Amino acid sequence: MIPKTEKIWHNGKFVAWDEAQIHVLSHVVHYGSSVFEGIRCYALPKGPAIFRAQEHMQRLLDSAKVYRMELPYSCEELVHAMSELVAVNGVWPCYIRPIALRGYGELGVNPAKCPVDIYMANFSWGKYLSEGGEGVDVCVSSWNRLAPNTLPTMAKAGANYMNSQLIKMEALMNGYAEGIALDTQGFVCEGSGENLFAVRNGNLYTAPMGNSVLPGITRDSVIRLAKDHCIPVIEQVIPREMLYIADELFFTGTAAEISPIRSVDKITVAKGAVGPITKILQKSFFDILEGQAEDKYHWLMPVPVGKEHPVEV
Ligand code: PMP
Repeated sequence: MIPKTEKIWHNGKFVAWDEAQIHVLSHVVHYGSSVFEGIRCYALPKGPAIFRAQEHMQRLLDSAKVYRMELPYSCEELVHAMSELVAVNGVWPCYIRPIALRGYGELGVNPAKCPVDIYMANFSWGKYLSEGGEGVDVCVSSWNRLAPNTLPTMAKAGANYMNSQLIKMEALMNGYAEGIALDTQGFVCEGSGENLFAVRNGNLYTAPMGNSVLPGITRDSVIRLAKDHCIPVIEQVIPREMLYIADELFFTGTAAEISPIRSVDKITVAKGAVGPITKILQKSFFDILEGQAEDKYHWLMPVPVGKEHPVEV
């Protein structure tokens, strides 16, 4: 169950958690017409700080643009609202979920006559895939990721996650923690809710944007960290067999952060331990998020909260 907070932001106002409701005949309920974001707010020694707030809100605006959804807020206004939400609820670390959806109006497929509603909620959420440790056991999914020119994967839209649900449910039913989907040509794409990286012979590989992947903000952060550690980053089409012969494999995502993969289809990744490049990237990533290292990329936006203590989670 999602742990409740006091307030949810709705079209510029704070409403009580239980009042943030929509009608069953809202367009989004029937056709998946929403775009959303997932953002983490970390607890730094100096207080809460939101990770890459602008980039996430810009992606929300980009996703809305693809779907011709007009959001009457600028990136800065949305970022400000998100910061206020964390302060108002007094809960951090937390996960923040902004969503823009087509609401109650008409039930035809054409969404133009339905209002666009924006909500933003935050709540505490722990680790998603791995609680530290040696990594997760995953499979290659029998489901492909979205084909080009069907559902656009650069948009983080609710409907895309019907595909993610198929991948995730199949993996769990078969005893795996996650599934890796291939694109319609059979090349490695991403997890149900994470981007994927492979290390081989000291190079870091990840699928390019044209391979039906979401342009992950953690993906971008890891690429940046790798480049600064002089680890060559190669964005190229990845054949499935690379998963079996990689020296290291890991997922990236807001929820998953950097989660090492221990095996794919019961084939152990190298010796089954977290590899050295994964460790370097994890360390530089978490050092910033825990306030142990300087935030030289300006990834963290402090949330002004006065002197109150965070709610224990
Ligand atoms: N791919 C998919 C399908 C996702 O749902 C996510 C999570 N948003 C990602 C990749 C990772 O993106 P990010 O690092 O921005 O969270």
